[in-house]
Amino acid sequence: MTQHSSSTLTRATPTQFLVGVGPSRADRLARIGLRTAGDLLFCFPRDYEFPAPPERIDRIREGEPVSLVGTITDAELISRSPGKSVFGAIVENETGAVRLLFFNQPFRAEQLTIDRRVMISGEAKLNGLRFEFVHPKVTYLDDDQTMTTPQILPVYPLTEGVKQLEMRRIVGGIVDELASQLNEVLPESLRDRATDALRDSGINLRQPLPDITTAMRQIHSPDDRDHLRGARTRLAFQELLVMQLALAIRRRRLTTDLRSSAMPVDPMLDARITNRFPFKLTDDQVAAIRQISIDMSRQFPMNRLLQGDVGSGKTVVAIYAMMLAVGHGNQAVLMAPTEVLARQHYQTLRQILDASRVRIGLLCGSLSAGEKRQTLADTASGNLDLLVGTQALLHGLEFKRLGLCVIDEQHKFGVGQRVRLRGGGVDPHYLVMSATPIPRSVAMTIFGDTDLTTIKEKPPGRGAVKTYLGRDEWRKRWWDFVRTQLKEGRQAFVVAPRVTASKEPSSAEDASSEDVSSVESIYQQLRADQFSEFTVGLLHGRLSPDEKQSLMQQFAEGEIDVLVTTTVIEVGIDVPNATVMTIMGAERFGLAQLHQLRGRVSRGSHTGHVCVFTDGNQSPEEYERLTVFESTDDGFELAEADFKMRGPGDVFSAKQSGMPPMRIANVIEDLDVLQVARMIAQELVDEDPELDNPDLEGLKKQLMSRYGRQLELGDVA
Ligand code: ADP
Ligand code: MG
Repeated sequence: MTQHSSSTLTRATPTQFLVGVGPSRADRLARIGLRTAGDLLFCFPRDYEFPAPPERIDRIREGEPVSLVGTITDAELISRSPGKSVFGAIVENETGAVRLLFFNQPFRAEQLTIDRRVMISGEAKLNGLRFEFVHPKVTYLDDDQTMTTPQILPVYPLTEGVKQLEMRRIVGGIVDELASQLNEVLPESLRDRATDALRDSGINLRQPLPDITTAMRQIHSPDDRDHLRGARTRLAFQELLVMQLALAIRRRRLTTDLRSSAMPVDPMLDARITNRFPFKLTDDQVAAIRQISIDMSRQFPMNRLLQGDVGSGKTVVAIYAMMLAVGHGNQAVLMAPTEVLARQHYQTLRQILDASRVRIGLLCGSLSAGEKRQTLADTASGNLDLLVGTQALLHGLEFKRLGLCVIDEQHKFGVGQRVRLRGGGVDPHYLVMSATPIPRSVAMTIFGDTDLTTIKEKPPGRGAVKTYLGRDEWRKRWWDFVRTQLKEGRQAFVVAPRVTASKEPSSAEDASSEDVSSVESIYQQLRADQFSEFTVGLLHGRLSPDEKQSLMQQFAEGEIDVLVTTTVIEVGIDVPNATVMTIMGAERFGLAQLHQLRGRVSRGSHTGHVCVFTDGNQSPEEYERLTVFESTDDGFELAEADFKMRGPGDVFSAKQSGMPPMRIANVIEDLDVLQVARMIAQELVDEDPELDNPDLEGLKKQLMSRYGRQLELGDVA
C-alpha cells in the first residue's frame, strides 16, 4: 500500500507519540477518551463542512475551510528518518502561492511532483507571509481539468485546547496507514447482500457498501457525498449488525437453551386469580394478561417488557402473573427500585391475598439482621411463595423453585441490568415493568430480545390532572388555592429538587434566590406562613429508611396534610387523597421525571392539580420542556417530545440501557439501516446459529467483545 509503514504506527500507539501531538495535547485528548491512535481512528466526525468552490489565494482567510486549484512548483522531502519524515510542497496559481506540509507521509513525494495540477482543500494557517496547509485533502487533476467539486472536511468532536484544524491534522496523519491495517469483518458477499437489502429499503447507495479500509478513509476524508454516504452506511450497518447478531443469538438461546416451568392457565385458575381483584380489569390489562399467560405456558422463559403510564395498572397485571406462578407451585419474586416502593408492593399483595394460603415475604434494607436471615431461609426452603424486595438485596438469593421474576424498573432500562436468578434448576420467566414509554424503534434495539406489551388505557374513574405552568406573580393565588383544597380534606405535595440550599447564603437577596428550590427552606417557610394551620411534613433521601417509612405512613393515613419532599416520592407512592402538587425549581427536572411526579396526584377520583414554578433562571430549552409538560398528560406524547428535544442518546444513555454506546449509528435516524441489520442478523443466526462459518469469525469476535458480557453470551466463542 503506502510506503509509510516504515514508521511503526499501530492502533495501540499512544497519541503523544503521533506527529503534532506531544504530552500536553495528549493530555487534552485523553480528557475525551482519546488515548491511542486507534481511538482517533474511531473518533468519527460528528459533522462535515462542504467548502465553497475554488477560491483565490489572495482571499484566503486563516482557519476557514477553502479549496483551491493550482500547480506544484516546488517539492521537497525534508527529512526521511522513519516516523519523522516531513514533505513540503508549494502550490501556485495566478492569484498566489501556498505551502503544503505532510508529516510521516513520504509517499507524497512521488505523487506531488513538480508541474502536477492539484486541487487542495483544507484550512490554512498563516506562517510568516505564506499560507500553509497541513495534511490538506489533495485531488490530482488532469492537465486540462480546471475545476472539480471541492473536498469535504470532517468536523470532529473537540476537547478544550485542541482546535478543529489541529484535530484534522492529527487524524489526517494516521487514517491512511491505520485504515489499511484493519481486518475486514464483513465479507464481500455479506456486504453485497446488505447493499441489496438497503437499496430495497430505499437507501440511495451509488456503489455497493465499501470495504473497511475504504470506508474508514472516506468517513474521515470523503471524496464526495456519495462516498461519504456509502462509508457512513457501511459503518453504521456494521455497528447495528453486530448488536443485532448478539441479540438474535440471545433470543435463540432463550428459547432453546433455557428451561422454565410451563404454567398454563385454565379457566378455574383464571377465575380464582381475577376474583381477588376488587375491580374489573381494563381491556388493556386483560390483553396484557393474555399475552403473559401464553408466554408463561411455554417451557422457555418469558422475556416481556410491560410498559404503561404511571397508574395504568401494571402492578395488577404483575400480580396476576405472580399468582399464576404460585398457582403452579412455583415461587415468584418482585423487585422494586426503592424500599418505599417495595413496602408498598408488599402491602398491596398482602391486601389482595388476604385470607389466602399464599405466604408473602419482604426483604429490604431496614429489616434487622435476624429478620433478613429468616426471610432468606424461608425463601430457600420454599416456605415463602412470594418475595418482595429491593433489587440490591436480591442478588445471589437462593430459591427453592423460582418460577417468575418481576422487575419494577420504573424508568431504568435494559437487558444488561437484568438480574439473573435461578432456583430449583429452572430458569424463571421475566416480566419487566416500565413507566417510561419508549418508541418501538428503540425497543427493538435496547430490548432487542424482549417482547413488548403496552397498556394505554387507564383504569376508569380516574380523576383528570390539570397542569399549570405557574408565573411568579401567581404564587400567592396558588397557595390560596392549595389551602382551599386542604380545607376540603385533600392533601398536597410540594416537591423541590434539593434537600438544602447549595451554598451558604451570604446576603438577603442570595438567601431568597437560593432558597427557592431547597425542601428544607420551603418547609420552614410554608409551615410558618401559608400552611401554619395545617400539619406539614418534610421528606427527603437523607432520612433513615424508618423515618421515611413512618412519614409516608402518616401521609397515607392523612395525619400529614402537606408533604414537602424531594423526588423520593417519585416512585410508586400511592395516596389517592393527595390531589395537589406544587413543583418548585421545575426547570431542573426532566420530562419523564415531571410526568412521574404528576402521576402521584392522579390516583384517586378527584381532579388533580399540578403547578410548576421555576427558579426564574431557566434556559429557553428548559422553558420549552415545561410548556410541553403543561400541554399534554399523555406519557407517550411526552416521551416522543423528549426524544425530539434531547435525542435518543440522552434519553436512553448507555448507562441506562446497560449496552455499549453506539459510535456512529443513531437508532432514530438510521431506523432503516437498523431494520435491515436486524433482518440480516436474524437470517444469519437462522442459517448458522452459533456463527461457526469462518467467514463470520471477525464479526463474531466483535460481538463477543462488545456484547458478550452484557448479554451473557459467554460460551459462544
Ligand atoms: P402502575 O403500576 O401502572 O403505576 P398500579 O397497578 O399501581 O399502576 O395501579 C394504580 C392504581 O389503580 C392502583 O391503586 C390500583 O389498585 C388501581 N387499579 C388498577 N387497575 C384497576 C382497574 N382495572 N380498575 C380500577 N382500579 C384499578
Ligand atoms: Mg407502579
